[in-house]
Amino acid sequence: MLNRIDLRGTPVSELGVRQLAELLPRAELDVEAAMAAVRPVCEDVRARGAAAVREHTARFDGVDLATTVVPRGALADALAGLDPQVAAALREAARRARCVHEAQVPGQSVTYVTDGSSVTERYVPVARAGVYVPGGLVAYPSSVVMNVIPAQVAGVEKIAVTSPPQASGGGLPHPAILAACELLGITEVHAAGGAQAIAMLGYGTRDCAAVDTITGPGNIYVAAAKRLLRGVVSTDAEAGPTEVAIVADGSADAAFVAADLIAQAEHDPLAACLLITSAPGLADRVDAELITQLATTRHASRVKEALTGQSGCVLVDDMDAALAVADAWAPEHLEIQAADAGDLAGRVRNAGAVFVGPYAPVSLGDYLAGSNHVLPTGGTARHSGGLSVLTFLRGIHVVTCTESALAAVAPHIDALGGAENLAAHVRAVRIRVGDDSAGAAAAAGGEVTGARSAPPLRHDLVGRVPYGAPQIDAPVKLNTNENPYGPSAALIGEIAQAAAAEAAALNRYPDRDAVGLRRDLAAYLGHGLQMSQIWAANGSNEIIQQLLQAFGGPGRTALGFEPSYSMHPIIAQTTGTRWIAGLREADFGIDRGRAVAAIAEYRPDLVFLTSPNNPTGAATPLAVIEQVCAAAPGMVVVDEAYAEFARDQQATALTLLPRFPRLVVVRTMSKAFALAGARVGYLAADPGVVDALQIVRLPYHLSALTQATARAALGRSVELLGTVDAIRASRDELTTWLRARGLSVTESDANFVLFGTFNDRRAVWQKLVDHGVLIREVGPPGWLRVTIGTPREMDAFRTALDEVLS
Ligand code: PMP
Repeated sequence: MLNRIDLRGTPVSELGVRQLAELLPRAELDVEAAMAAVRPVCEDVRARGAAAVREHTARFDGVDLATTVVPRGALADALAGLDPQVAAALREAARRARCVHEAQVPGQSVTYVTDGSSVTERYVPVARAGVYVPGGLVAYPSSVVMNVIPAQVAGVEKIAVTSPPQASGGGLPHPAILAACELLGITEVHAAGGAQAIAMLGYGTRDCAAVDTITGPGNIYVAAAKRLLRGVVSTDAEAGPTEVAIVADGSADAAFVAADLIAQAEHDPLAACLLITSAPGLADRVDAELITQLATTRHASRVKEALTGQSGCVLVDDMDAALAVADAWAPEHLEIQAADAGDLAGRVRNAGAVFVGPYAPVSLGDYLAGSNHVLPTGGTARHSGGLSVLTFLRGIHVVTCTESALAAVAPHIDALGGAENLAAHVRAVRIRVGDDSAGAAAAAGGEVTGARSAPPLRHDLVGRVPYGAPQIDAPVKLNTNENPYGPSAALIGEIAQAAAAEAAALNRYPDRDAVGLRRDLAAYLGHGLQMSQIWAANGSNEIIQQLLQAFGGPGRTALGFEPSYSMHPIIAQTTGTRWIAGLREADFGIDRGRAVAAIAEYRPDLVFLTSPNNPTGAATPLAVIEQVCAAAPGMVVVDEAYAEFARDQQATALTLLPRFPRLVVVRTMSKAFALAGARVGYLAADPGVVDALQIVRLPYHLSALTQATARAALGRSVELLGTVDAIRASRDELTTWLRARGLSVTESDANFVLFGTFNDRRAVWQKLVDHGVLIREVGPPGWLRVTIGTPREMDAFRTALDEVLS
């Protein structure tokens, strides 16, 4: 029944894609030829608007319409007259399509290219979209769903649907199409078809304002008009005759395969249906089935025409060759009916949509899979995808840069501007950040001596600068939230002793699992925690890195609520994890509802919460953490670096661990424990999380000396944490003092306070440095952060600030 194309023995994988495609049948659609016919029609509509649409409609559709606008009442009437079962099916199709397309909406991402330089990617919908729905012999209300839903989900505010008027229907489009529009809440429908309808949408008329994007299938004249209008509007991929390729092995059910070939052929005598198989026996069985099923199919003549025309059965040596043939043909629909269908589907490169296994026929995708059925045809799946929310969105880069970040990158702009001989480009930067002789020489075309090419850094890291607060040797350092009190003489002695004992065995690797330290940490934390729930590393930064390596990474997403600890996005990005910057409220708190909505929207693999938050200071209420845990689809990381300074010691996320196995509480010995120099961070979580981290941790990475030091310090935890009360009291005193000076101060649960706001915080920071006091320029614009030091240090800070502000 099907023509056989025998490629057995042909090295198909070695043939080029184009060469291989030439061996395969497909109806040619000469859109270019149709353009000559539609150009005058489109030009006429451009010049004369509604009058031209009216004339062409009378000529082509045989109805004279004073306006293209379909009255609202006609939409409601059509829905009232629609078979309730069809209405229910359309509603379910719309619901499923909406779910799938909502997941397509890309989130806004902010990339901090360097400290001070960011690019935000915003996706913005077009203002107005036009959807063409063919009328003719068969009207497809499912096409209305497939075009309108992505536009609505993308957020397009105005959507106009147009479809040819029917002379027999009083000049209205097909009632099923009107009903589908009403069902989806479309209020603007036009009775116009063919090239004149596309021109009406693209150029606008008295009755129909011009749109920005046109989608929807149509005949060759519609395709030609869309091609002509491209540039004036954007369009979806060009729709040629529909097609299916079925890749099948001997295990496929011949009756299923034959039914799907016939279903595709039912659309159009020009439809192309390809069976690609390594099993000649299956080819025979499918032929027999086709004959049987054709006897009872409704549109037998056009099915037969399609199956005996530009269709066929390709015989290949094996399934690798079958995939190579399918990729070369790049079908609109690709079904895989084979033993390892899932694996094979994962290897497909070129297809509009792939249908996997015996129970996912194309008919499901045409109506109710939730996937879109507007797909690239004619081999354009090599370079284009199907209709999606992206068809109606544009990505806009929003670029910000501080003066210092611009200055840092200026030499590169000098070099590129010089190489491209665009001196004004160079000046536009240098006029802002001053001159740089090496850069200027390059821009002037001179040689930069000693210049070396940069090593081949990962491209997403190019232009980044290392993270770090300025390391200025000021007499009073209140910039990195350290504990100002050093270890006691007794503890120094114990650390020395422990280190000496370890030194004797430094030829050996340390305990890779840090069992003793983890046991001590579990005992310190309490809450019934066991060693198996604790993991330790070189600082909590390394813990965060390991979490992102294990649970984030390329293709995965992490969400945080900014402003917060800036290493969270930085480590996310250096591990290839996409960072989503959720926002805090004006008071820097996290709104529960908005947090849950952000989680629902982005489905992040990790959510970061910092409590108490750095740099804003306040603890995150447990109720918020609890709701985030309940809503998050993946890991929730609560960074409790400053937990010991919090007012309410009971409000720790440790209490939630028994209820949420994907919750991770991160702690550090750098702050309250006064052990920043030893680099010890740790986490508490479900033992499964600890196990997972073993995959990414470096072996023997926590040195024997570190482990011994940390254990010695934990042995004196009561003494070390004795400084916490004094620091808390000093923090609250400083808050009162700053407020008395008319400054804003956030309520802090940590060992620092955030205060401001200053029009030029950099100037205040610099003047404090000039007075010998180093604090941190961090956080939202206008704010500064000061770490609580010793009473003497705080006096120095207060004196300096008074002088700076006076
Ligand atoms: N988390 C937060 C919120 C922090 O502020 C810091 C350090 N400032 C860390 C983690 C990292 O600390 P460490 O690596 O020293 O444990």
